[in-house]
Amino acid sequence: MTVTPATAATPTAHADAVVVGAGPAGSAVARFLADAGRDVVLLEKHTFPRDKVCGDALTPRAVRALSRLGLVAEAEGTAPGWHRQRGLRMYGGRVTRRADGTTDHEVVLDLPWPELPDWPAHSLTATRWVFDEALARHAEAGGAQLWQGCEVTGPVWLTDSQERIAGVTWHQRDADGAVTASGSVRAPVVVACDGNSSRLGVAVGLHRDQARPLGVAVRAYYDHQRPDLDMMEAFLDVEADGVLLPAYGWIFPLADGTVNVGWGQLDTSSHFRGVSYPKVLDAWVSGFPAEWGLSASTRQGRPASAGLPMSHNRRPAAHKGLLLVGDAAGMVNPFNGEGISYAIEAGALAAEAVDRALATRDDAPLAGYPAAVANEWGGYYRLGVTFAELIGNPTIMRWCRDHGMRSQVLMRLAYRFLAHLVDRRSADSIDRIINTVTRAVPAA
Ligand SMILES: Cc1cc2nc3c(=O)[nH]c(=O)nc-3n(C[C@H](O)[C@H](O)[C@H](O)COP(=O)(O)OP(=O)(O)OC[C@H]3O[C@@H](n4cnc5c(N)ncnc54)[C@H](O)[C@@H]3O)c2cc1C
Repeated sequence: MTVTPATAATPTAHADAVVVGAGPAGSAVARFLADAGRDVVLLEKHTFPRDKVCGDALTPRAVRALSRLGLVAEAEGTAPGWHRQRGLRMYGGRVTRRADGTTDHEVVLDLPWPELPDWPAHSLTATRWVFDEALARHAEAGGAQLWQGCEVTGPVWLTDSQERIAGVTWHQRDADGAVTASGSVRAPVVVACDGNSSRLGVAVGLHRDQARPLGVAVRAYYDHQRPDLDMMEAFLDVEADGVLLPAYGWIFPLADGTVNVGWGQLDTSSHFRGVSYPKVLDAWVSGFPAEWGLSASTRQGRPASAGLPMSHNRRPAAHKGLLLVGDAAGMVNPFNGEGISYAIEAGALAAEAVDRALATRDDAPLAGYPAAVANEWGGYYRLGVTFAELIGNPTIMRWCRDHGMRSQVLMRLAYRFLAHLVDRRSADSIDRIINTVTRAVPAA
C-alpha cells in the first residue's frame, strides 16, 4: 500500500531512516533497509510512473545489482517492458560518407558480453518510466513506506548548532503549484538519493567538486526498422560542424520496438559548452543507413539532455548524519556514463552502514560508508579522472577511433575495463591487469 503524508496520522512522523528520492539509489536503500527489518520512509517528489532522462541501458553489472535486490524476472529480462541483449556492437575506424549523406564505418566489432564467474552474460534495457516504478514498488513490497508527490524542502537539525541532521521537512503541491500539505519526518539517519543537484546535500554544506569530471548527454526515442536488434550499439563518430567530438553515441533497443538514441561528452572537451546537443543529435542520426529507418521524422517527442556527475564529485558521502548515494554523491562511472548499477551497489553499502549505526546507536558505521565505497571502485574512479582529461583531447579521441579499434588485444582489454566487468579473484590475465592497476592508485 502506498502511504502518503495526506493519509498519515500526524504532520510529524518518525522512522528508523528517511530516504530522499526514489530513483534507483533511493529505492535500493529503502528495500535493503526494509529487508533488514527497519522502518523506512522513502519520499519522492514525483508520482510514479515518471520519466527520467537516461540511455535506459543496464549493463551486466546492473543486471547483477538487480538480482541482488531480488528483482528476478526483471534481471532475466522476462518482465513486461524489459529487453535483453547479448553484447555490445562498436562502430569505429575511419568513417566515409556516401553520396546520400549517410555513413560507412571501417570497423564494426561485435563483442558478446563475456562469460565470467562474477557477472551475468547479458544486458537489459527498460525505460525509466518502467524501471524506476518497478524498483520503487519493490521497496514498497518489502515494507518501506513510499510517500509520492512529496518534495523534501530541507533538513531538520538535531540542535540549533546544525551539527547533526535529525530528519527532513516536506511539502506537497497541487497542479497549480500551491502548497497543499507539509510536515516533517524525523529519524536517526537520513539518506540523500536526490540526484545530480542534491539539494539536501547542498543544504548540509556539500557542494560539487568542479575538478571532477561531469558529463552531459542527450537522448531521444525513435521508431526504427531493425526488429531483431539484440545488441547495444556504441559509436565514436559524433561530429559538430565536421569536427570529431570527444564523445560517444549510442543506439539501445527497447521492448516496445523503439530505440533510445543519444550521445554524450565530458566537460574536459573544449566543445562542452559551445554545441547544441539536440542539433548534433539530429545531424548524427541523419548519417545512419537509410535501411535502419531512423531519422528526424521517426523521432518520438523532443530530445532531452541532463548531466552525469562522475568520480565522486560530492564528498564526503557521509556528513552530519546524512549519507549520500548515487548521483547525489556523483557516483557515475567516468569511463562509460553508467550510474544505475553504482547507485544500487552503493545503496547496499549505505543500508548496511545505517543498519549497523541503528543497532549500535553510534555514528561510527556511517563514517565508514565512504571508505566502503572507495574500497569497491575508488581506484578505478581515480583512473577515470585521468581518462576524462585524456579523452577530452580530440587528437587522442581520433587515435582511438582510427587505430585503437583495429587492435584485438587492446579492444579486449578496453572493453572489459570500460564496462567495469572484472572478477576480483581470477587467474584471467585481463582481470589481473585491471585489478593490479586499479588497486595501485589512491581512491577517488
Ligand atoms: C542522458 C543520460 C543518459 C544516461 N544513460 C545511462 C544508462 O544508459 N545507464 C546507466 O546506468 N546510467 C545512465 N545515466 C546515469 C543515470 O541516469 C543516473 O546515474 C541514475 O539515474 C542515478 O540514480 P539516482 O537514484 O542516484 O538519481 P535519480 O535517478 O536522479 O533519482 C533521484 C530521485 O530523487 C527525486 N528527488 C529529487 N529531489 C527531491 C526532493 N527534494 N524531494 C523528493 N524527491 C526528490 C527525483 O525526482 C528522482 O526520482 C544517464 C544519465 C543521463 C543524463
